[in-house]
Amino acid sequence: MKFKGFQKTSLIEYPGKIVSAVFTAGCNFRCPFCQNPGLVLTPDSLPSVSSKEVVSHLISKKKWMDGLSITGGEPMICKDLPNFVREVKREGFLVGIETNGTNPQMLKDLIAGRLIDYVALDIKAPLVWEKYKRAAGINDEDLFRKVKESVKVLLELDSEASYEFRTTVVPGLIKEEDILTVARQIKRAKSYTLQQFLPRITLDRQYESLKPYSKEVLEKMRKRAESYVETCQVRG
Ligand code: SF4
Repeated sequence: MKFKGFQKTSLIEYPGKIVSAVFTAGCNFRCPFCQNPGLVLTPDSLPSVSSKEVVSHLISKKKWMDGLSITGGEPMICKDLPNFVREVKREGFLVGIETNGTNPQMLKDLIAGRLIDYVALDIKAPLVWEKYKRAAGINDEDLFRKVKESVKVLLELDSEASYEFRTTVVPGLIKEEDILTVARQIKRAKSYTLQQFLPRITLDRQYESLKPYSKEVLEKMRKRAESYVETCQVRG
């Protein structure tokens, strides 16, 4: 398996752990606010890092490295992912994966095989097709149904793996009421994170001039959402 980005040390990709982070190529979504357009649209133009190099690095830092975070792009469009994860787990490391939720079967298999310790699942918008297709930049309703299935998998999770749902709060795509709707749809979830939108490089360049919501507005959203889930936090 090849990666298109390798961060040797990260303190933010896996809550409370020191990890390395790898970035996979390609994605089946086209979120207009995506901050990794190179990985999504032109991954072949980026240098590759081999799985062997990643595992060797982890082993060389075993004394203080807790694990590996796998992000993208969308990691679960890579068929080789389970084999790679198995290799990392065999060396005794924790594995966290960030996903858009479009491969519920792989998610289930990784959980059932105890190959995954932490999942961050992006919920781009309320789980309503008309809203979701705009936020994810897709026309394929089947992908949307798969996201809903993955949400269900995590809500019914009965294993040691932990998870969080995350929504990037993008002005124009997400309103205060939308956050409340998502919180109701993931009622009793262990953890829901509202991520601040940072207008840096975005897939749709128009989003670079958007003004993010203020901290006060995000905090107001968080307070309203927190009565539906176990914990709700703002990040960024
Ligand atoms: S933000 Fe959207 S387009 Fe970008 S990598 Fe994530 S799911 Fe794919």
